Amino acid sequence: MQPSADIYDLASLTELSEEAIGKVLQDRYNGDRIYTLVGDILVFLNPFKPVNVYTEKEFSCLSRPDWSGPVAVGNEVGSSAHIYTVGTAAFNLVGKDSTILISGESGSGKTESTKLLLQQFVKMASSSQLNRTRVAECLLAANPIMEAFGNARTVMNHNSSRFAKFVSLGLQGNALVSSEIRTYMLEKSRLLSATEDEGNFHIFYYMCLSSNSFFKDVRPLGPLSLISNAETLGRRYTDLEAKATEVLDAFDKLSFTAQQKEGVFQILSGLLLLADVEFRSEEQNHTVCPSLDPKSETTFKLACKLLGLKGKDSRRRLLKTLTTSKLKVNDEDIYSLFHEEKTRVVLNGCIRAIYTKLFDWIIQRVNDILASTGRTDPGTRVRQIGVLDIFGFESLAINSFEQLCINLANEQLQLFFTHHVIQLEQAEYQSEGLSWVEIPFEDNQVTLNLFLERPLGVLSLLNEESSLASGTDESLYNKLMKHLVDKPKLQISAKNPAVFTVNHYAGAVTYTIPGMVEKNRDKAPENTMEVLASSKLKLLTEMINSHHGSKAKAGNGKQQASAGLQLAVQFRSSLDFLLAKLRESQPFFVRCIKPNRDNAANSFDQEYVRRQIHYCGIAEAVRVRQAGFPVRCTYGELHLLCPVLSFLYGSGRLESDAARIRAVCRQAELPAEEVAMGKTKVFMGVNASRLLAKEERRYCGR
Ligand code: ADP
Ligand code: MG
Repeated sequence: MQPSADIYDLASLTELSEEAIGKVLQDRYNGDRIYTLVGDILVFLNPFKPVNVYTEKEFSCLSRPDWSGPVAVGNEVGSSAHIYTVGTAAFNLVGKDSTILISGESGSGKTESTKLLLQQFVKMASSSQLNRTRVAECLLAANPIMEAFGNARTVMNHNSSRFAKFVSLGLQGNALVSSEIRTYMLEKSRLLSATEDEGNFHIFYYMCLSSNSFFKDVRPLGPLSLISNAETLGRRYTDLEAKATEVLDAFDKLSFTAQQKEGVFQILSGLLLLADVEFRSEEQNHTVCPSLDPKSETTFKLACKLLGLKGKDSRRRLLKTLTTSKLKVNDEDIYSLFHEEKTRVVLNGCIRAIYTKLFDWIIQRVNDILASTGRTDPGTRVRQIGVLDIFGFESLAINSFEQLCINLANEQLQLFFTHHVIQLEQAEYQSEGLSWVEIPFEDNQVTLNLFLERPLGVLSLLNEESSLASGTDESLYNKLMKHLVDKPKLQISAKNPAVFTVNHYAGAVTYTIPGMVEKNRDKAPENTMEVLASSKLKLLTEMINSHHGSKAKAGNGKQQASAGLQLAVQFRSSLDFLLAKLRESQPFFVRCIKPNRDNAANSFDQEYVRRQIHYCGIAEAVRVRQAGFPVRCTYGELHLLCPVLSFLYGSGRLESDAARIRAVCRQAELPAEEVAMGKTKVFMGVNASRLLAKEERRYCGR
């Protein structure tokens, strides 16, 4: 019998339970075999220590230009269970685009896997060209920038991506000719919620703690509330200087001008200071109104200056938008005063909006540069490889709008995955010449409908409430109650208007309603953004006026500053875009698994891993297989399945394969509908394989 650590394709297991898979994965993990296949799905177990499997040897052995997919190589060194094999299969696919979907929970290794793939593609492409292309250079340089502005230290992962990304490469022959990066769902709430364990985006620490003279010149003096944890958290950055310098170099490699680079950090400094501005309430003419705390005069003045609002007048205008709301009544502006708390809300909204605009602008700039350096030959088709690095399923102590979107995306990808696995199974049956085999399977379409149906799905109802001026969390709850109370997969009760629970494929999640409507509105404070759009800092006005993710020309600043799509609408259209891409391409799946909660090396938590096997669809793939004919072997391998019986009816006694199998089936009294004979393989259902094993044991006298 093969030692289980040597089984690098789990689809060859006869017992396909979650426990059995967990056991093999554990044995492999103990021997530093971090990659395993389940059919054509690659499972990665994060080792949390350097494992020597990305050397030149692996690269050259596994990145062959003539290779079209995972094949058994026999020995583990050249084993096809490796991230490079997936990359090679995607790279070499002709006639179709390919998409690699990487999923797993936070800290499981998605982003590192994405980086390994991109590096591999660049290397594979450049080995066919004399020089590494400019596209490749820019693509690699984009990474440190994206990570600095979009990643943060979290409890789960010290370099956690707080956005999802889809990177696509265009290839003509083996040449890398274009590339594009799309980002989604930047977690902007992180900006104002730093704690001892949860950091703000890396860039703030690089900028404020680095001894690099560039940063020394641009940063404001502390202490700063956005990174109030700088002292403790900053110490945990072991490679801060190197990272900080890497970001600056990357801006240069991407041909950002000195002015743009300075502008970016000037805006960040402005935000850091703006966050420190304090307000107080004072009485004027018998009304309490918020105004600038005199202690904050200097800070406010400096923040305004950095954000390009020079002079007393523009400062006054900004302050007015922060402390009052403006309504147009009969073409007349009517102002009403905020209370102190509301002032804070507006200020924070403004900080989040500017940071998001900055992030989007940087990504857009990178894409412009990638587009301008790309060289496509109009004569030949460009084939695309896409890599999707997206948050895994989330079930936190409190789940809000963000988790709703993340889990919906996962639910959708799960359905795609299931369909793919079923299709693969059916393709195998077909190529073996079996008549159509229906695989009974309950998919999660019902859950998706619950969210996506129009006009009475959760998203549509949420959008409706967010677009009504009168919409509140309470009215959202009422609508959910009215229209969805009897829907399957949803629990919502008259007793508790603050929550609803969805039974996702990966488990039940309870979502908190308060805050959802406003989060979905995603309103940047219009009046404040309008004032900022008149900034003397060109970069800032450019950002505020540009559309997210599109190359549309910036139009009228005023209109654009206030125009904003509800987040769920944007999210839905990104999801549709991704699905369209996926449907027209060949998918490859990489499932990343975290072996323990502590990010420790050499530690395997069985229960924790088993849960992920379940979450990330490996169990699903297994179920699909179990539903059809899970056990199969070629005629020549019958002795592996039933050594005794195949010896009894072995060659010499009955001449044809079919006759031998039929004899074995008769002997073990296998139900006819559970055995199918293909061109080269025999297939068996779960019951048949159990009966066969029983008969084997009987013959052996056990
Ligand atoms: P995710 O994107 O899934 O949240 P990351 O890709 O950021 O996770 O990985 C988290 C950490 O896991 C990395 O910082 C690194 O320490 C470790 N890690 C990930 N991939 C590997 C690998 N192939 N080999 C060794 N360590 C890894
Ligand atoms: Mg990540």
